Amino acid sequence: MSKHRLGILSVVVAVVIMVVPAFAAHAEEASGAYTFPALPYAFDALAPHIDAQTMEIHYSRHHRAYFDNMVKALQGTPHDGQPLEALFAKMSTLPVALRNNGGGHWNHSLFWQIMSPKGGGVPQGDLAKAIEKDFGSFADFQKEFNQAAATRFGSGWAWLSVDAQGKLFVSSTANQDNPLMDVVERRGTPILGLDVWEHAYYLAYQNRRGSYIDAFWQVVDWAAVAERWRAAK
Ligand code: MN
Repeated sequence: MSKHRLGILSVVVAVVIMVVPAFAAHAEEASGAYTFPALPYAFDALAPHIDAQTMEIHYSRHHRAYFDNMVKALQGTPHDGQPLEALFAKMSTLPVALRNNGGGHWNHSLFWQIMSPKGGGVPQGDLAKAIEKDFGSFADFQKEFNQAAATRFGSGWAWLSVDAQGKLFVSSTANQDNPLMDVVERRGTPILGLDVWEHAYYLAYQNRRGSYIDAFWQVVDWAAVAERWRAAK
């Protein structure tokens, strides 16, 4: 190889080494049957509603820890490789480490998907009609969801889910539980979820959970929620 080509090659290698870690932070990564998902946008994409530092810590450290600990909790058990939804359906019989970390992984995977820098506004089409039918109006739905998110004591989630009859309902769950688990009061398939753990908002909003809830509506990807609703009902 000529000196010139070698020179170009080293520049290319150096650039790749510099650039790859930035992408690697967002890349999906498989571990056995389970996948740590890619973040579908940049850390600063949802700012100012959700700031870049919160996104980076939330995704790279909190979600990652749930994923790694879920993989550990499953290792060497007969449940390893089973879909999480199947495990959630018999959650009450399984170890609490799997409930906390499997829930944490599943819930955050949904959370990243139902937000978008192009989000906000109100749902359209059939989902808008279903919300009107089941809640009276979009404003009534939003009021109920806000109430669920604001009054969840300590850490947990607020959800919009579809029940077995195809009806939409709002609920909240503690810690990393979700409506797919057989441990919750009302079961269904979540199509929208809001993380109300302090780690989701404390850097930007401190104790003002209400301001964070208001900001969340500015980034909800209603097209993604509608897609989940169609698959769930
Ligand atoms: Mn979280």
